[in-house]
This record gives sequence, structure tokens and C-alpha cells, in this order.
Amino acid sequence: MDVCPTKAFVGPFELDAKRCISYLTIESKDAIPEPLRIPMGNRIFGCDDCQMVCPWNKFAATAVDPVFQARPEFEQAALTTLFAWSEATFLDKTQGTAIRRTGYAGWLRNISVALGNADYDPEILASLQAKRPTSTPMVQEHIDWAIRQQILKRDAGGPRSTS
Ligand code: SF4
Repeated sequence: MDVCPTKAFVGPFELDAKRCISYLTIESKDAIPEPLRIPMGNRIFGCDDCQMVCPWNKFAATAVDPVFQARPEFEQAALTTLFAWSEATFLDKTQGTAIRRTGYAGWLRNISVALGNADYDPEILASLQAKRPTSTPMVQEHIDWAIRQQILKRDAGGPRSTS
């Protein structure tokens, strides 16, 4: 209950799925509620923090099937690189993965939130501004939020990020 970034466990044995980052970033096709955006941090597809501390999961073995291994294009990838993907690139790179489930608009929505949560970086600001014109209204609203977050941090003299 304590580890959940968005406080989705509203009581013992009680989960408010609409606060869960896995629901918000994978299943939901709607805008992410603003109060939950900052707590999401840089989680762009699911969360599973509660699975990491679940006592039952200590019995689970690491998967050896190659299908469960991280693909090179996702390991150590900069958020700005993933954000710059066209829809065709997104479909190509996510072929055969669960990431397809969120759809291209969901992908951009989720990364916008993470970019808004990153430390101020002029490259992030430029990347958000570049993507805005070709995005859907729902994604644009998240981009605008992220731009505001970046500008707030810039004006406050925040550190430059390396994302
Ligand atoms: S997956 Fe993450 S956001 Fe969802 S309930 Fe677990 S800890 Fe909370």
C-alpha cells in the first residue's frame, strides 16, 4: 500500500484501478488525470512496483524465454528518442510486444507525462514542441502540460536532465 506511487490502494485488499499506472498507461484510452501525472514519474508503460514487493513473488524465477527479454531498442533508450518515433516506427518496433496495446496516441501521451516530469532540458522542450503539431488533441493536451512543467522548472533554475 505504501509503495504505490499513485496511492491506488485505498484500503487493505482494496484497489482503485483507475489510479493504477498500469491501467492509466496501458488500458485507458483517455487523458491521464492531472493529479496523477507527477506521481507517475517516468513510468511510460505499466508500473508493477507493488509486484516487486509482493511476498509471493519472491518465489518467482527469472524468465529465460527470449520473448521476455528486453529488446535492444528499449534498453537505455532516451525518452526523447522514443517520443520522436513516427507511428510506422512505433508499429514496427513494438511488433509482437504488449506495448502495442497502448496504441500510438497512448504511447505519446505516456511519454509526454514522463518528459514533463524530467528535469528541465532544452532538448526535451524542443522535442515536445516539435511533436505537438502532428499530435491528436488528447496528446496535445498532455504535451502542453509537459511543456508547462518544463518551463516551470527552467524558470526555477532546475538542473539539466540527461533523459
Ligand atoms: S502497479 Fe503500480 S500504480 Fe498500479 S497498484 Fe501497483 S504500485 Fe500502484
